[in-house]
Amino acid sequence: MSTPVGALGSGLGGGVELTLKNIAQELIQRGHTVQIVAPERSVMPELSIIPIPGTVQTTAQTQGRDAPITLPNQSVLGNMWDHARRYQQDYDVLINFAYDWLPFYLTPFFTRPIAHLVSMGSLTDAMDSMIEQTLVRFPGTLAVHSRAQAETFSGGDRFRCVKNGLDLSLYQFCPEPENVLGWVGRIAPEKGIEDAIGAARRAGRLLKIWGAMPDPDYWQQVCDRYPGGGFCYEGFLDTQALQAELGKCQGLIMTPKWVEAFGNVAIEALACGVPVIAYERGGPSEIVQDGKTGWLVEPDRVDGLVAAIHQLDLIDRYTCRQQAEAEYSMQAMGDRMEAWLAEILMKHG
Ligand code: UDP
Repeated sequence: MSTPVGALGSGLGGGVELTLKNIAQELIQRGHTVQIVAPERSVMPELSIIPIPGTVQTTAQTQGRDAPITLPNQSVLGNMWDHARRYQQDYDVLINFAYDWLPFYLTPFFTRPIAHLVSMGSLTDAMDSMIEQTLVRFPGTLAVHSRAQAETFSGGDRFRCVKNGLDLSLYQFCPEPENVLGWVGRIAPEKGIEDAIGAARRAGRLLKIWGAMPDPDYWQQVCDRYPGGGFCYEGFLDTQALQAELGKCQGLIMTPKWVEAFGNVAIEALACGVPVIAYERGGPSEIVQDGKTGWLVEPDRVDGLVAAIHQLDLIDRYTCRQQAEAEYSMQAMGDRMEAWLAEILMKHG
């Protein structure tokens, strides 16, 4: 059950899109049958998708903490879960990738178990309460990507942490970078791109930027704030093209202003041999090995980013690739996912 905020392949779903694809591929590789239910116009070659029509959801991170639960007319989320209700008997387990109130609320009404993979930290009170109820009523069925993400909710230790993983054969190790830094992600306020631009300019390096642009007005504001260049937007690329460009960077800069649940882009960089400079906040603080595969910087300190950029040469790029291979392979992620799902099935009886 995919995210209802956009079609798969649009980039609007953020890291969830790649995560869902990799989990599906690895489970199929292990002999499971996987069917993806996603908004219509979703494109994910080699995977079987049931397209569902309807209006997409607003992303939770653009709402205030006391935002009510809303559904648009002809909601794709409602339609997806109506489909799930009708066809649930065809499946052993449903995996929910939506950071939305409705699938949690519906869980007790389903006869099949639902495994909820929570993709963001605490954002609204209404979601927090619903997640809390589900944790109590269906223990073991909620997973997160990092401990830091889990800790944004009350009783964080009740979540299972499945991290994430990549098909490392798609990411080529690049031993010799060019004189350029990279920034990858949705261009949205919670990603703090201004700090990366400010730091790269002060360090005298060009910053290349890749990612989906859900709000062009926000990007325009950023460009207006930094006249005179020093950075360039290179578009939203598919994984193959992205890794080729990312691999040429001396380092990836991650400047989250929120508790980043994980940060797929961090492990994608490591897979290419690119050290990661990140604010010590959320998922990246559990991924980056400070001084070994990148530098962790005190959050919101641009001067800290600048100092770290000047120390990128101290990081061995091959060690970065090795960390990705050891912790974030499809095999490692598949083991974590399968163990979680097996436990849910066992409890369900
Ligand atoms: N991404 C992409 N092409 C681009 C830039 C980004 O496919 O040009 C993908 C990237 O592979 C990653 C996702 O966008 O999977 C961003 O996910 P992340 O977990 O870093 O952050 P989120 O958007 O989920 O907060």
